[in-house]
Amino acid sequence: MKLYSINTGFFKLDGGAMFGVVPKSMWNKLNPADENNMCNWALRSLLIQTNDRLILTDTGMGNKQDLKFFSHYFLNGNDSLDNSLAKYGFNKKEITDVFHTHLHFDHCGGSIIKENDQLVSAFPNATFWSNKKHWEWAVHPNEREKASFLKENILPLQESGKLKFVETPLTDFDENNLLGSIEFSPELKIRFVNGHTNAMMLPQINYNGRTIVYVADLLPSVAHIPLPYIMGYDMFPYTTLKEKTSFLQEAAKNNYVLFFEHDPINECCTVHQTEKGIRVKEIFSLNSL
Ligand SMILES: [Zn+2]
Repeated sequence: MKLYSINTGFFKLDGGAMFGVVPKSMWNKLNPADENNMCNWALRSLLIQTNDRLILTDTGMGNKQDLKFFSHYFLNGNDSLDNSLAKYGFNKKEITDVFHTHLHFDHCGGSIIKENDQLVSAFPNATFWSNKKHWEWAVHPNEREKASFLKENILPLQESGKLKFVETPLTDFDENNLLGSIEFSPELKIRFVNGHTNAMMLPQINYNGRTIVYVADLLPSVAHIPLPYIMGYDMFPYTTLKEKTSFLQEAAKNNYVLFFEHDPINECCTVHQTEKGIRVKEIFSLNSL
């Protein structure tokens, strides 16, 4: 098996929204805001190459939206899904599976492209993965979350005829069943969390003797490791708090590698227990593993 970090670009989100209850005087040192209070974030996918599959986890925000949309989110930088795949000698036609941690636009926008005014799969040979619980949540969005669930990203996944659901191990918000998991393939386990959105999935991979977890929006960046640093976007912040607590203890104990989707600088880190709580131990890039 081989893993590749695929940066699909950077985008901007309001710093206050990204750090929730943490005051700007503290978060601004970690990810300095621009004159509009916006901070820059990565859109980093993970490509998992196994013997017979090429699995892409999340696809960034894509580029099919209009100028007004991008005037809010400022897609920037030189990286794109296509050129990051090409850097390793891959192209979108070769992808066998597109795995969506969840269906917020910055995680699945690149899965669907506009071709002759039609919304079609960007990956003609790939199966799209979600789970039934999250899918229902995303296609009937609540008022607070619906700006993140865009019809043009979601419905065409189903219309492509290539959408499949992985099993979900959870009953609704069961406190004893946080971080349930299922086996997706021999190399890949899927962890479930419910604080950011309903039934978000985190791939967990055994790789060169290490356990790597794609932490998606449970921990968007290294700056979000201290427990109170929870995004204002989260639907159930108290659930996120419990999930972070439990996951970070497990990660520290087992020396997991956390792979960050949104950290603008850091790709991976390990964590350890300190006097102040669980904090970063080492920061490194994926290709150093
Ligand atoms: Zn999200």
